[in-house]
Amino acid sequence: MPLVNTKELFEKAYKGGYAIGAFNCNNMEIIQAITEAAKECNSPVILQVSAGARKYAKPVYIKKMVEAAIKDTDLPIVLHLDHGLDFETCKECIDNGFTSVMIDASSKSFEENIALTRKVVEYAHNHDPYVTVEAELGTLAGIEDDVVVEHGSETYTRPEDVEEFVRRTGCDSLAIAIGTSHGAFKFKPEQCTVDPETGLLVPPPLRFDILEDIAKRLPGFPIVLHGASSVNQDLVKIINDNGGKLKDAIGVPEEQLRQAARSAVCKINIDSDLRLAMTAGIRQHLNKHPEHFDPRQYVGDGRAEVKKLVKHKIIEVLGSNDKL
Ligand SMILES: [Zn+2]
Repeated sequence: MPLVNTKELFEKAYKGGYAIGAFNCNNMEIIQAITEAAKECNSPVILQVSAGARKYAKPVYIKKMVEAAIKDTDLPIVLHLDHGLDFETCKECIDNGFTSVMIDASSKSFEENIALTRKVVEYAHNHDPYVTVEAELGTLAGIEDDVVVEHGSETYTRPEDVEEFVRRTGCDSLAIAIGTSHGAFKFKPEQCTVDPETGLLVPPPLRFDILEDIAKRLPGFPIVLHGASSVNQDLVKIINDNGGKLKDAIGVPEEQLRQAARSAVCKINIDSDLRLAMTAGIRQHLNKHPEHFDPRQYVGDGRAEVKKLVKHKIIEVLGSNDKL
């Protein structure tokens, strides 16, 4: 099975009321964990690569490892550029076999966003094979590699903009801002309420009213959620119990993501949760076995935690299991 773009996968996801996980990857163990989990769940999967990941692993390694994952699993896998900030980066990825790219011009003016997105769409759609393009309207708070938006400077997507934006750009999917944010510290404790039963902090709910309005204006059109890690408190506890210092790490509750996955949202991005799972596995291993120094032992445990997490996401949050 060769790499696929997002077109058919999103059509099926939209009709089927589920979302496809877009997992960020930057090394062999993470790619293996994601694709082995997807294989065991019979789920399509998007492997996404940020500019930082390309720099860390080198583009050729990423490409070859993803090819190896396809050979190993025979799954429909999308290789997607996460947060392409300019035309050149998108073009380079398209020329090197990516089947999907994101052009993120969300920090620019509406007209500049349209012009740059349109330029990438023209190049991607005229490429053989057809490459799908994700665009973004509205801005998320938080930090993702080179994308830094201060909390308080984020803006929700304006539903009244989306029809014109999609019509004039020709993009294949649209990332929107409805209250998610990048990183493992999505909400400040003072923004949250306390669950009386568990004592855990509950962040303010996502703006489903905006999502519904957008979905109504763009019937059948795939919507994307960035910054959608849940920051599982069990993993945070494992990290902190084993020498870590993550204070007030708070994410988006999984019930809300499950609700989003059933709607027009066809792609949910997950990065921080993978990082937390990897770190939890490694910290726990090294703390338990201070005499170990073979990376296969502790990185292997990190990989096992990531795989467990991805299976949980596919089955309990995205609903993309048994959809092949
Ligand atoms: Zn993002």
